[in-house]
Parts: sequence; C-alpha cells; structure tokens
Amino acid sequence: MRKFTIIKACATSLRSFGLVSLSFALTILTNVGLLGCDRLTHPSVEKVMLHTMKATVDGLNKESLHIRYFGATTIQIDDGNTALMIDGFFSRPGLAQMLFGKISPDIDRINYAFAKGSVGNLAAVLVAHSHYDHAMDSAFVAVRKSAVLVGSKSTAKIGRGQGLPDDRIIEVNHGDKLRYGDFIVEIFESPHSPDPWFSEDINQTLQPPARVGEYRAGKNFSFLIRHRWGTVLIHPSANFSPNLFENIKADVVFLSLGMLGSQSECFAEEYWRSVVLASKARFVVPIHWDDLLRPLDEPLLPMPYLVDDFTGGYKTLLRMAERDRISVQFMPLFQPFDIKAFQ
Ligand SMILES: [Zn+2]
Repeated sequence: MRKFTIIKACATSLRSFGLVSLSFALTILTNVGLLGCDRLTHPSVEKVMLHTMKATVDGLNKESLHIRYFGATTIQIDDGNTALMIDGFFSRPGLAQMLFGKISPDIDRINYAFAKGSVGNLAAVLVAHSHYDHAMDSAFVAVRKSAVLVGSKSTAKIGRGQGLPDDRIIEVNHGDKLRYGDFIVEIFESPHSPDPWFSEDINQTLQPPARVGEYRAGKNFSFLIRHRWGTVLIHPSANFSPNLFENIKADVVFLSLGMLGSQSECFAEEYWRSVVLASKARFVVPIHWDDLLRPLDEPLLPMPYLVDDFTGGYKTLLRMAERDRISVQFMPLFQPFDIKAFQ
C-alpha cells in the first residue's frame, strides 16, 4: 500500500514537472526494463495469467462470432462474413521515439500482427478517440484492409492525412447506428479517462510522421456491437456518464482499465455501476491495461508503476466482480475466441 502511495506521489509530482521530467524518469525505467529487469518497472503479470482465457482446442463454432485481442484497445470481431476492428493499433512505438521524435505507422509491426491474428479484409475500423494509441494506425489499417474508417471529426483528419478518400471516412456522433453485414454498431459518446493529455480536437489534416501531441483526443466513443449471435460493449476509456448505458443489454464488456488505479475507490465503484452493471453483462474482459511501449512480439506486461497503479485498480475490479458475481478474464494475444466463451 505504502509502495503505491509513494509511486502515486511520484507520478503526481512528475506530472507537475511536465512531460520532460516524466520522459526522463520513464526513459531510465524503460532502460532498466530493457536490461531485463521488468520486475523493477512493472507489476507482476502472474495475477493476470491466472485470469487469462485458455485458447480453445476443439475448434471454433462456425455459426458464431469470433473475437481476437491485440493489446491496448485493439479488438477484432468477425462472424465469418464480416469483420470489424476496434482502433487497430499495432505499431506501439518506443518511448524515445514517442517523446523526442515523430511517430508513424510501423509497417513491419502491423504486418506481424496481421499475420499472427490472421487479419483478413475488414468492413470497418471503429476508432474510440484520436490519441496515438487508438488512432495512429487506424487509417493505414483501413487502407490495407479495404475498410471504412469510423470515428470523430479528429479521426477523420487522420484518415485524410493517410490518403483515405472521403467516401471511406464516416464521421459519427453519439446515437448514430451503422450496419455492416449482420452487425449493428451503436455509437455512444463517453468522457475520456480523467485529466487526459492532448485533449482538444485535431483541426488540420494530420499526416505522419507526427509528434505524439498532435494526436489530440477529440471526442471519445464506446461501441455497442449487436449481432444475432451476441452483443458486445467495447468501452475503451476508463470514465463514465452515469446513465449512458441504462437501456442496453450486452453479453460481455471489454472494459478499459487505463488509469483506473489512479482514481479513487468511489470513482471505480461508479465506473463499474455505470458501465458493467448498467450493461447487464456477466463477463468482463479488461483492456488498455498493458504497457503500450512494448511491441506485440513480446509478452504483454501491465502498465509501468510510474504510469498507473495497475495492481490497485485490478484488485478493486476483482473485488467488485466477485461481489456482483461477474466473471473477469483477460484475453491472450491473437487467439480467436467464440462469443459463447463469454456468454
Ligand atoms: Zn486517450
């Protein structure tokens, strides 16, 4: 407990010193990580492993939805005819490049993830908001996979910057409903997790390479994805509007843990009530819990100590889930899971 109080105090004072101090501290910590001392920089992944779904050995049911996870908030949902992707972020640039240089989609890393996750053509890439860890690769992925790009005005600026024609960019707002094959996607505007950096809109066409701060958040969306075989709520940023999901019913919630450990217990309870309990889902898959600076050819690790109190947030999540008898399971990278595994 004391350790996290100290870490939180460090993080708070680092924020007040600004990005330069934070980058300096994180660079040191990342270098410690690179030297093979991940345990000094990151919470243990063992507790996550205990609650990670096991890949199915019997093959997947053909008449079903198949879901794959690619780290952060990147998820693919596919019914055999139509595939949708949330965010599509695979490049995961390292810290030095992110803080001191410019970033752009990394074709090798994107191809690696496409191959590992057998990503075929996509009908749509649905973008939560326009920070780099959600939107930087989205337009590139849409171009490569013949998809339309769906997101805010800011995300549309990223699409145009990467050469997507206007008829493949769908600007959406709260309440919009879109149909792709047998899927219906409903758009919910929801606040970004508290105190985001770079929170404004992107006002000009954004062409990579660009600085991380140019990927400003714009509006943030959650997606309710309905299909006759199941309903999935994707909630990519850990904040809530109290009555937003009052009238929905989902089988599973993909729930962001990003910065949840830095919030109060009271916040976590309201978050849980307003998103998970409101959705009536009995199954939660944590997303946005992993260290974004690590490439996908290395195992996922929780956010580093200096960024978030992952252990505290996760403990609170498990306590609420146990109390309300809701299953919490992480998904392993790249493996397909039948929607029945979550129902
Ligand atoms: Zn964000």
